[in-house]
Amino acid sequence: MRIIEVAAIPDAVELRRTKNGFIGIFAKKNFARGTDIYSNVYKVLPENSDIVLKTPLGDIPIDMKVHSVKQNNGMRDYYGFDSFMNHACDANTISVVHPGDEAINRYFNRAVKDICAGDEITANYLFFDWDCDGHSFDCLCGSPACFGHIRGFKDLDFETQLKYIGDIDDGTLAKFAAAAGDRLALANLPYGVRQRLAAVV
Ligand SMILES: [Zn+2]
Repeated sequence: MRIIEVAAIPDAVELRRTKNGFIGIFAKKNFARGTDIYSNVYKVLPENSDIVLKTPLGDIPIDMKVHSVKQNNGMRDYYGFDSFMNHACDANTISVVHPGDEAINRYFNRAVKDICAGDEITANYLFFDWDCDGHSFDCLCGSPACFGHIRGFKDLDFETQLKYIGDIDDGTLAKFAAAAGDRLALANLPYGVRQRLAAVV
């Protein structure tokens, strides 16, 4: 069944074409580092969902493999307008889940750098996508810290995973813990990460 929905785009941002011709999310005003830009609620839908999103740039068919994040149970997390968030290795936002919001699938998109009106808003996919199932790609972000080919957090070596463990979301943390097993139990982790680990495994 085809689902047709109108993209609910927050006032703070707009969809535009990037210089590479892709659709991206762009700030309409300035945001200081540390401020929340918008909140969004994702839906959990079957892998084979057929969605057309009505946007100011036209009606865009959603490729569930590319534009959503796989759970491990045949379902995928679908983000509406936020499906168009592009990856950057040195991204200017992270997603934050406030206590109690897990149950309603709500997250906030928070600036981790000062963002100017007109800047593209980006996220590091490695921090919330375990294996980038179906959409591994060569990153063109140009950052000195570029990870190169993006295949999800799973693809990073263990030392690099430990370096970024404080940045990944709970779903990715749970998958990492399951995959790493004793290696993670023996690792020297910050207290806050240990607490989160205890909560997700
Ligand atoms: Zn990159």
